[in-house]
Amino acid sequence: MDITDLSIKIIAADRRALSKAITLVESSRADHRALAAELIEKLKDSNRQAIRIGLSGTPGVGKSTFIESFGLMLTGLGLRVAVLAVDPSSARSGGSILGDKTRMEQLSRDRNAFIRPSPAQSHLGGVARRTREAVALCEAAGFDVVLIETVGVGQSETVVAEMTDLFILLLAPAGGDELQGVKRGIMEMADIILINKADGDLKPAATRTCADYTGALRLMRKRPQDPEGFPKAMMVSSVQNEGLATAWDEMQALANWRRETGHFDARRREQARYWFEEELRQGVLAQLETATAQAAMKDYGDQVAEGKISPDIAAQEVLKRLKP
Ligand code: GDP
Repeated sequence: MDITDLSIKIIAADRRALSKAITLVESSRADHRALAAELIEKLKDSNRQAIRIGLSGTPGVGKSTFIESFGLMLTGLGLRVAVLAVDPSSARSGGSILGDKTRMEQLSRDRNAFIRPSPAQSHLGGVARRTREAVALCEAAGFDVVLIETVGVGQSETVVAEMTDLFILLLAPAGGDELQGVKRGIMEMADIILINKADGDLKPAATRTCADYTGALRLMRKRPQDPEGFPKAMMVSSVQNEGLATAWDEMQALANWRRETGHFDARRREQARYWFEEELRQGVLAQLETATAQAAMKDYGDQVAEGKISPDIAAQEVLKRLKP
């Protein structure tokens, strides 16, 4: 595979080259990993920057409907939009949240949109790396907006928040007056909470839910990366195309404020450090999986269990035996 040629094509926004490159970064084969690393390194100097938007929400809240409407609105404004997904459950279900062809039907046919289904991969670490690299590829290919969708199932939000500039939480109108059991940690990650389905019979409930979240957000500790009025809750209807333009205005206002105040770049730098440390951790854990390490673990584990050696000294001994 000619990496230089591939990188030139990606910079020229060649969609087939982009797809091929994403397939390459998804591969776990050692030779593919090396080529992928070379490609990412080559593209680093393209200096193109998209706005990376994370979007989370439980199944049924309307993520794909929102992305379809919001994406079409953006392409209508002349912007190029890429949609990626982090779906840790895809390995279990064998499918993927974006794999279903009926989702985002119009957007997937739009020349200015690029939709990439989540690959089936077993662990979140692998999915995270693949998605990070896919984001880098889409940025180099000149996309203006990269949307990263995730299902609200705990850890995957953290992963998405750590690779995006803005994090959007999509909610549906609540029946009661409870805050839908949204975990505090997830609320704290959100820059904008969008109450979807604010239309028809659901409009009154959406209005109540929006007021509830506005109140809850006000009670939260002020974050240095937020201008006055953020994080905020807003209502949208993805089906009726309502509130989407306002939501985009707010996203841009927030991103622009962060750019001007240095928070935008600071966040990306912190994210780069986070992923470096995460890769390092994963690398060390992988060393523990080798046959030699496993054998040493078993051997020393037995000795620890029999009281022959203390756990910390045994651990030091095994660490010494890890592949340098
Ligand atoms: P996802 O699982 O989060 O991707 O949710 P979907 O986009 O598949 O939507 C789930 C259901 O909610 C579908 O039946 C949609 O038609 C419906 N839905 C999505 N957005 C809206 C909206 O803005 N208003 C209303 N009334 N229904 C919506």
